[in-house]
Amino acid sequence: MQSVTILGASGSIGDSTLNVLAQHPDRYSLYALTAHTQWQKLGELCLLHHPRYAVVVEEPGAESLALWLKARGSATQVLSGVEALSEVASAPEVDTVMAAIVGGAGLVPTLAAVRAGKKILLANKEALVMAGGLFTRAVEEHGATLLPIDSEHNAIFQCLPGHPRDCLGGGLAGSGVRKILLTASGGPFRDYPEERLASVTPEQACAHPNWSMGQKISVDSATLMNKGLELIEACWLFHARPDQIEVVVHPQSVIHSMVEYVDGSVLAQMGNPDMRTPIAHALAWPERMVSGVASLDMIATARLDFAAPDTDRFPCLRLAADAARAGGTAPAVLNAANEIAVEAFLRRRIGFTDIPRIIETVMGRVAFTEPGSLDAVQSADREARQQASALVELH
Ligand code: NDP
Ligand code: MG
Repeated sequence: MQSVTILGASGSIGDSTLNVLAQHPDRYSLYALTAHTQWQKLGELCLLHHPRYAVVVEEPGAESLALWLKARGSATQVLSGVEALSEVASAPEVDTVMAAIVGGAGLVPTLAAVRAGKKILLANKEALVMAGGLFTRAVEEHGATLLPIDSEHNAIFQCLPGHPRDCLGGGLAGSGVRKILLTASGGPFRDYPEERLASVTPEQACAHPNWSMGQKISVDSATLMNKGLELIEACWLFHARPDQIEVVVHPQSVIHSMVEYVDGSVLAQMGNPDMRTPIAHALAWPERMVSGVASLDMIATARLDFAAPDTDRFPCLRLAADAARAGGTAPAVLNAANEIAVEAFLRRRIGFTDIPRIIETVMGRVAFTEPGSLDAVQSADREARQQASALVELH
């Protein structure tokens, strides 16, 4: 019996994870579920799934949830505050932590799970983008097991000969890999001419053609920043250099990514676009278990298309590749500026095409350093957020 904590249980990845876990009550029990503000949703989840603890970061929400659960006879104990996230991620009773908080807020609790040597299922790509060096060193030092949930990275993981920890001592080339082909759907504006992009709305940006996801990652998919963050994420997860990763637009999202070997073989992982597949894969790894995802109908799929990404219309991908090459705190600055810009776009304070403009300006203003500590990462993050917020104010 594995005991599981889900950080970000009230979100889209949280939903998919609970769906998979509920199919295997004999294998998994829930230690804790967490949310930021959505206490009512967390309450419903507690009644259904009976975790030992529920964390609501915001104090008033936690108080309301405690009363609400008590009135319904639930035994789940309610905690509040950011520290509680790290506590339920690192408690000795916990085996596996699903890291599915969105954005930089997930970094500290995810690192707490790493430092406690847990099995970490990483959806929260921003944590790795911000602090990849610290994060991966901590994984090694504390004997944690890091498994990718992001569908592309999970696909790459499945196409590699083993866990990167065991087989990539000599970098990617050490296992005969020539390159990684990171696929991208292209998002809802893939075919939009440049002049239409300035006036697209948050609703249009959040209507992803293939995946149903949280708002922030949906906007990131529309700007291609998601692919940029994933490029940086892949470098850390697979010990790859940015030039060993090629982004390929593949609108059907049936191939989730590919690995090319030196002998010319290209392995692809395919499946319906449903996050329950990578979640079940990582939960059961190295075994396999049922996820509830339907068989892929190849005949109905009929065709698979591929194209190069257009970084003139979608400059975020270029900015992320620049940050990957610059290294140090550059990815943390990129990520922080992006979070502020995306939130401002969702609040209709700025337009869609202002997102890359703000990020590029912030990247030109904040000096990059070599992050030796979490403090250094957090200070780069803070400075970039301040700069980006000031630029939003000008609109
Ligand atoms: P959602 O917006 O649906 O959910 C986010 C979760 O994080 C919610 O539980 C939310 O709580 C919580 N949260 C938000 N802010 C804070 C905070 N400051 N402190 C603590 N908790 C917080 O996002 P997704 O589930 O779509 O994405 C989660 C992560 O997984 C992201 O990093 C995303 O990039 C990644 N991912 C998602 C995929 C998907 O298909 N959805 C695919 C691949 C990766 P509350 O509900 O109370 O606001
Ligand atoms: Mg992805």
